[in-house]
Amino acid sequence: MPVKTIIEPFRIKSVEPIRWTTRAQREQLLKAAHYNLFLLQADDVLIDLLTDSGTGAMSTHQWAAVMEGDESYAGSRSFDRFRSSVHDIVGYTHVIPTHQGRAAERILFGVACKKGDVVPNNTHFDTTRANVEFVGAEAVDLLIPEGRQPSLSYPFKGNMDVAGLEALIARVGREHVPLVMLTVTNNSGGGQPVSMENVRAVSAVCKRHNIPLYFDACRFAENAWFIKLREPGYENKTPKEIAQEMFRYGDGCTMSAKKDGMANIGGFLCTNNDILAQQEKDLLILTEGYPTYGGLAGRDLEAIAVGIQEALQEDYLRYRIASTAYLGNHISAGGVPIVQPPGGHAIYIDARAFLPHIPSDQFPGVALAAELYLEGGIRSVEIGTLMFAAAAQMDLVRLAMPRRVYTQSHVDYLVEVILEVYRKRESIKGMRLSYEAPFLRHFTAHLEPV
Ligand SMILES: *Cc1c(COP(=O)(O)O)cnc(C)c1O
Repeated sequence: MPVKTIIEPFRIKSVEPIRWTTRAQREQLLKAAHYNLFLLQADDVLIDLLTDSGTGAMSTHQWAAVMEGDESYAGSRSFDRFRSSVHDIVGYTHVIPTHQGRAAERILFGVACKKGDVVPNNTHFDTTRANVEFVGAEAVDLLIPEGRQPSLSYPFKGNMDVAGLEALIARVGREHVPLVMLTVTNNSGGGQPVSMENVRAVSAVCKRHNIPLYFDACRFAENAWFIKLREPGYENKTPKEIAQEMFRYGDGCTMSAKKDGMANIGGFLCTNNDILAQQEKDLLILTEGYPTYGGLAGRDLEAIAVGIQEALQEDYLRYRIASTAYLGNHISAGGVPIVQPPGGHAIYIDARAFLPHIPSDQFPGVALAAELYLEGGIRSVEIGTLMFAAAAQMDLVRLAMPRRVYTQSHVDYLVEVILEVYRKRESIKGMRLSYEAPFLRHFTAHLEPV
């Protein structure tokens, strides 16, 4: 009988201590941080699930490649390795390095969009939306209705509403839609995947109207794994073959290498359009750096060149997606309401359903995140009324899993802490704001229990 237990596909060569605090200390620390977990010192956190961005562990192969970094200003060997590794997966003609994902977005929208344009996406990530709006264009989210129901289980909740896309193009006119974007996986929509069938359908609409299709490819490898697991016809394909097929339906991509690039910094912008690429490189030189480094060190390019291939390894993806699902399934079995099914990089707890006695204007997500810290030193992030104010449709607490960082016993610990907080849920109090900045208030807000 084959062994069923999925294990971490690595052993540990270098360890980084984590620091325990007592509950009494955490009460002090949280109060001093005004109940805003962004304002804590990372050293005062035991398990840090604030984000999966740039927080992953690099492999021995990546660290070895770092030593091979060629720091030449122009024409470095490291750029060649970076370019050919990325090109091998995405297949696009031009590979332009940037210091992270949002820089790729700023350059793409700065060159391709103008005031009055409309950019459709399944769901814009917040930096993507901000960069579209910065050039005066409108960012429109066209998620399928299934994607908006947290408790509904559906295999591809990240899909774009194809009829909605057709209708939007008809309404605003093709000349006002410079590009269409698909975010894989759909980060803001709960880390939910997009099916190949949906990619094909969106691509067909784009081709019919002669509109380029771009991927926000941050979690392209996790998306490929979900396609392999869930979409008929892909079970015998490798994640890399699936990713390569997906990219063939598009004309370019933006990428944060801090996600499925398995690096701590970096990103890139790709396109098949020679004229656009020239304008993008000109802008890159102005603000990021010469096109063979784009604001990164040669060693960063090396780490990405190796990491982006490692992200597609089957044993890694099997462990990655299973460990996220393990957390989600265990707390869900204990009664905790989560966005279903578990996404690729994070579990989202539905704080409104967890704390029905706290109205949304008393920030149930902030209250829950504070309690998870008090109970077990866990740092999560509220995605709800504090972040989006009146525009918040849900109050979620996101537990984002850094790549290759925590082991199963860490996850067992998380499950125990979350279930303990769930048992005590009726005693948790709401929060009130005592200070807010004029924009992006969640990063710096001060709160206190009501
Ligand atoms: C992280 C992220 C970005 C932005 O990338 P940064 O490296 O943080 O600038 C863009 N889109 C999605 C979907 C992301 O998850």
